[in-house]
Amino acid sequence: METVVSGIRPTGYLHLGNYFGALRNFIKMQEEANCFFFIADYHSLTTHPKGSELNTYIKNVLIDYLAAGLNPEKATLYVQSDLPETTELYLLLNMLAYLGELERCVSFKDKARKQPDNINAGLLTYPVLQAADVLIHKADKVPVGKDQQQHLEMARDFAQRFNHIYETDYFTLPVAYNFGNELVKIPGLDGSTKMSKSENESSCVYLSDSPEVIRKKVMKAVSDSGPTEPNQKKPQAIENLFQLMKAVSTPQTLQFFEAQYSNCQIRYGDMKKQLADDVIIFVSPIYERILELRGDNDYLRKVARQGAEKAHESAAKTVREVREIIGVRSL
Ligand code: ADP
Repeated sequence: METVVSGIRPTGYLHLGNYFGALRNFIKMQEEANCFFFIADYHSLTTHPKGSELNTYIKNVLIDYLAAGLNPEKATLYVQSDLPETTELYLLLNMLAYLGELERCVSFKDKARKQPDNINAGLLTYPVLQAADVLIHKADKVPVGKDQQQHLEMARDFAQRFNHIYETDYFTLPVAYNFGNELVKIPGLDGSTKMSKSENESSCVYLSDSPEVIRKKVMKAVSDSGPTEPNQKKPQAIENLFQLMKAVSTPQTLQFFEAQYSNCQIRYGDMKKQLADDVIIFVSPIYERILELRGDNDYLRKVARQGAEKAHESAAKTVREVREIIGVRSL
């Protein structure tokens, strides 16, 4: 059976972009593979969050995972920092990562530009920790969004380098996995091309938003005064509304508004009302479950503990074997 590994950083609540870009893949994969899905708390330390906030975010992401449909009986759900073996493999992989390639990484350059006063070594070696996350369970497949492709490429490079230097075929080279092979990018409500909490909070619909909040957010989404000529090219903000509709509404609804747009009869108020209804229908069951799970600390603790134990079994084996291959042995 194939092994699948992926995680999301706990930097806040999860939004529809996280759902369609990541969670949906996780939910599908848990039915057919040996899955490890973690909450990447060490990764979020590069921006120095407050301890109390980080803790809340970890809990929220676990709740969102479970409410969206990740099943701890099928997949192993754990918190990254509960698995110290990952950090040991990270150290060992750091010996195989070269400064030049880390400095050339697009996300490093991007982050360095965004936080010029805090270009820490953790930021530089972020792709090495990500490689450790997936190689610790010897992943075959990694469900990632388009923004993560370069990191996965680097994980493959480190795995290959390990195999080459130590003359082994120990690590398989993990490949990207996407639902239906289609890379989805959910746009923002603010007219931006990507729904993203780190870029703009107001672009997001969270899985934990109440129906009232969702309605308000969708009705306020950026639009314009409407097309003036038949079959006009859609401006970005309008394209975004259609893309969101494609994700949550029925094909008939989408077709109806496409036709209205093409013949210039569209009223964005009506379209947003329909979109809000459909987002609410989509999110509501998840939202209800989130409310239930929030009060169930015992269950959440149990899931995290069991996940850590299961992850530990797989990770301890990898570290033991990697140490053996490298020659780090007790006398
Ligand atoms: P954010 O950009 O909101 O900070 P993250 O970077 O933490 O979100 O993303 C976590 C996961 O969700 C990644 O696998 C990423 O590819 C996916 N993801 C995030 N935003 C989107 C989006 N708008 N569309 C599709 N996938 C997304």
